[in-house]
Amino acid sequence: MQQCDVLIVGGGPGGSTCAAKLRAAGADVLVLDKRTFPREKPCAGWITPQVIETLALDVEAYRREHVFQPITGFRTGLLGGREVETHYPKPVSFGIRRYEFDRYLLERSGVNCRLGEPLKTLERIDGHWRANESIEAKMLVGAGGHFCPVAQRLGARSNPTSSVVAAQEVEFEASTDDLARGSVDGAVPELFFCDDLKGYGWCFRKGNFLNIGLGRIDSKELSRHVGEFGDFLRDRGKIQCEISARFRGHAYQLYERSVPTLIDDGVLLIGDAAGLAYAHSGEGIRPAIESGIMAAETIAAAAGNFSTAKLEPYRKRVLARFGKPTASGPTDWLPAGLLHFLARRLMASRMFARKVVIENWFLHAKEPALAGG
Ligand SMILES: Cc1cc2nc3c(=O)[nH]c(=O)nc-3n(C[C@H](O)[C@H](O)[C@H](O)COP(=O)(O)OP(=O)(O)OC[C@H]3O[C@@H](n4cnc5c(N)ncnc54)[C@H](O)[C@@H]3O)c2cc1C
Repeated sequence: MQQCDVLIVGGGPGGSTCAAKLRAAGADVLVLDKRTFPREKPCAGWITPQVIETLALDVEAYRREHVFQPITGFRTGLLGGREVETHYPKPVSFGIRRYEFDRYLLERSGVNCRLGEPLKTLERIDGHWRANESIEAKMLVGAGGHFCPVAQRLGARSNPTSSVVAAQEVEFEASTDDLARGSVDGAVPELFFCDDLKGYGWCFRKGNFLNIGLGRIDSKELSRHVGEFGDFLRDRGKIQCEISARFRGHAYQLYERSVPTLIDDGVLLIGDAAGLAYAHSGEGIRPAIESGIMAAETIAAAAGNFSTAKLEPYRKRVLARFGKPTASGPTDWLPAGLLHFLARRLMASRMFARKVVIENWFLHAKEPALAGG
């Protein structure tokens, strides 16, 4: 039986950040992940400056060995509509490959890991957790993403009012010739919203890698939407090559409509396991690492008493940090025709693209990085 203070199920950005912070606080931590690293994770790989700051990422060292794409603008619009380009004098975001980034963070955390081992069994015995009949832990952190088995055990995926985005994504290395024939600029990723504003497609270039995908709240006919988006990119000359890999699907729950399940006796959920991705953009890496830090600080302060009451500060901090989830948005109550009309007008406006879409929805420019990373 392997003993530890805290067992973290999932070694993505949320799990590894929480692990690093707990280790620094002197806890004996074990990360369990069903995959070995490096591993693919469906994701556009776009991160904001607040992520870099919170992680105290040594950018110069990181970029020497990994893809790291500074982003100084965005091209946005409604699918099929007018495109608006917005530029900034310095980088406002960055592109990374999750294949590299997640391994880097997990290795950097320096914690013990059991990789390539899924969580199969979980028992609560005398106030302790027993996992896979071979690990015993005082405290459990569910960091296993949207399909996290710990989140499922807590019923976190069964709220009928929650908004879940279903997405498909592909990332592949393109030849220099193919990249030169297309028009996607690494410094200016492209984002195109669906007519009904229920999702958006993206085309990112990171070094020689292209990342293309589309996510929607309404998962019906997702493959059709993805196919149409691919046709749109080709028709507009953005990509001129064959997509040399298969689209992969995944999902994540947005932080809106209802307060997610976050804590229970001896257990808490972070990142996608909790369902914390930002509502408009779907940015989930930042909430994952921020919730990982807040969770670690709460666990450290609980000093061995992991009752629900002692974990309550984590729930309060998440609500204070990400705000009270909004009950509904215009896509719920505006008639479809009016929504489409407004979307077409607004998305074509330079001011709306800069101030609302990019700086408010995507960059959360007014929200500073979480201290204490
Ligand atoms: C297509 C797509 C594009 C996205 N693009 C972006 C983007 O550009 N920027 C951004 O900020 N966010 C993006 N997101 C959201 C972002 O990927 C997630 O919010 C983020 O990965 C959450 O991190 P996490 O650590 O909570 O979970 P994850 O990164 O999902 O990590 C969970 C880990 O748990 C492990 N695990 C799962 N089940 C088990 C099990 N049973 N036993 C053991 N281990 C298990 C997994 O192997 C995985 O390593 C995107 C999401 C999708 C689907």
